[in-house]
Amino acid sequence: MKLRKVTAASAAVLALALSATACGGDSKDEGSGSGSGGGKIKIGIKYDQPGLGLKKPDGSFSGFDVDVATYVAKQLGYKPDQIEFVETKSADRENALARGDVKFIAATYSINDERKKKVDFAGPYLLAHQDLLVKKDSKISEATDLNGEKLCSVTGSTSAQNVKDDFAPKAQLREYSGYSECIAGLQSGAVDALTTDDSILAGFASQDKYKGQFKLAGLKLSNENYGIGVKKGDTATVNKINAALEKMVSDGSWQKAVDANFGPAGYKNEPAPKIGVIVK
Ligand code: GLU
Repeated sequence: MKLRKVTAASAAVLALALSATACGGDSKDEGSGSGSGGGKIKIGIKYDQPGLGLKKPDGSFSGFDVDVATYVAKQLGYKPDQIEFVETKSADRENALARGDVKFIAATYSINDERKKKVDFAGPYLLAHQDLLVKKDSKISEATDLNGEKLCSVTGSTSAQNVKDDFAPKAQLREYSGYSECIAGLQSGAVDALTTDDSILAGFASQDKYKGQFKLAGLKLSNENYGIGVKKGDTATVNKINAALEKMVSDGSWQKAVDANFGPAGYKNEPAPKIGVIVK
């Protein structure tokens, strides 16, 4: 009896340990590439960026990053119904990967040296540029017009960092946690301009509820090379994702995703980048 109790207790501990492994974004099953065991893969995306990563009211997801993530997951052995999308806001991405919350992140995530100290990147898979979004009747058309103005961007983004380091150190920078909050601020007049990647701004500007209200300045203030973030040291996953991205371009799926997601916004994207080549 005593012995049986001990056995049951060890079995419970073992079961717990196993289920803990199966739940993490970094489980063996998720990294194996088979996916055949019915396991899930957790992928970090944005939830509030139309055309890139958007959680719709019905709970489904859309956008270029979502399509890229879904294609990559398929190449790793996961069907769409095995994907669990998790929101990874700009400031949370490095930590989400370090903690193993997600297996990879496809969330308008620019590759840079600072981030490479903490995470590894596959890609790049898109080249965007930092730009400004202002109200249609705004006089702001250049970065130098921002001095003294209220400028919105997002904490933990390269966009906010570039403002401080580089092109508008005298702007009154307001850092919010997501771009949807910035666009609400722009609409209400709480801020005078919103700065981030042109890909993101075009997606917002084309929304029915904002049509005709805003304009992009059309400035290429930076090069934003979007990569897929993975946990530091997970070279096997980086290599698999790079192979998947190469295939996505060569079989035409990349262009299809571009047309479907950027077409409605009229966003003129750059051609598909070469894997491993960062435009400085
Ligand atoms: N691509 C930029 C970045 O990675 C801005 C967009 C974002 O915040 O996701 O920081």
